[in-house]
Amino acid sequence: MNSRLRPLSLLCASVAVFSVAAFAPPAQAEPAGAPADRSAAEVRSLPRTVDPRPSNEELAEELAEIADRSRGRVEVRSIGDSNQGRPVWAARIGDGPVRIQYISQQHGNEPLGAPAALEYVRTLGLGNSFWHRWLRSRVTVDVIVRANPDGHVHDWRYNYDPDADPEYGQAGQGYDINRYHDPAVAPDDNPATEAGHIQRAYAEFRPDIVVDYHMQGRYIDDEGREITASLLWPTHPDVADSDVEAAQQVSVVAERAITRLVPGSNVSLYPGGDYQGIARNAYGLRGSASVLIELSDMGAEHEQAQIRSAYAAMLAVTQSAADGSLRRIDPDRAEQIPPRGEPLPDTERAHPLRLDSLD
Ligand SMILES: [Zn+2]
Repeated sequence: MNSRLRPLSLLCASVAVFSVAAFAPPAQAEPAGAPADRSAAEVRSLPRTVDPRPSNEELAEELAEIADRSRGRVEVRSIGDSNQGRPVWAARIGDGPVRIQYISQQHGNEPLGAPAALEYVRTLGLGNSFWHRWLRSRVTVDVIVRANPDGHVHDWRYNYDPDADPEYGQAGQGYDINRYHDPAVAPDDNPATEAGHIQRAYAEFRPDIVVDYHMQGRYIDDEGREITASLLWPTHPDVADSDVEAAQQVSVVAERAITRLVPGSNVSLYPGGDYQGIARNAYGLRGSASVLIELSDMGAEHEQAQIRSAYAAMLAVTQSAADGSLRRIDPDRAEQIPPRGEPLPDTERAHPLRLDSLD
């Protein structure tokens, strides 16, 4: 599952057998003395109303305040400027051996992953119970809170590059950032500026797990019940089976957390394509357990539940990676998540860009 650990293990095996044990990831170890999982309590204690669309300036202020209050536990940095000169902020928490990268809002008009990511950074970074400290000793998390700050301002899918005539994107607007993660394209050659920043952040961090948060239109399942979120692992044919299975394990954890912790939720698979420029596929090709989560765009009255869903999934994946339960999940369980059904009637015109398989 892990491009970082795999070569190391091979190296150890060729040098001395006992070295392998020394490098065995703690996720394998029995979490004796591990504190009780508090993630459900954290989801319950999320404020009733989280700002669903903080401005870029508000986001920067909140992150700076969290970093300040954390006394070194949260490191906030810009991974690069957007085309219009806005910093793309990332927050890093913890110093554990399992590495998790969360990405949100690559598409500017899909906002609700970002406030969830901000609350997650606040909880994991500022919490000081034994559980919080234990999590930080088990995992290192890098959170790209809003990948597309220009698209957020323009309230559109793309980055801001009006002179471009992109293969994936919209002439007069910009590139579709989530089509420019192809492992064969070097960051410096990447025409989608913010995708290049994410590629560099990924290469530097080398995460075991990547979860990318998006939003989709409105759909129903076979019984006519509305789907609140959809998810998917890499589908590019060259992704290693072990990396697909690891992503399926992450998918099961996320699906269970949303279903258990958010009343009324209904999670399906996402009918995504196999293009290697999509982050879900690209970071699977590079050896991570890479998962896409799409929150349905269900209107203002459902936004808090959607933020809560993303937040619940973030905490649950962290917990399961930290306590090792993630590795014990049967990946075949992911295949039992039902497929996404038809669009909710009358939503096609509202979401003309989201009807196809658009991660
Ligand atoms: Zn999207």
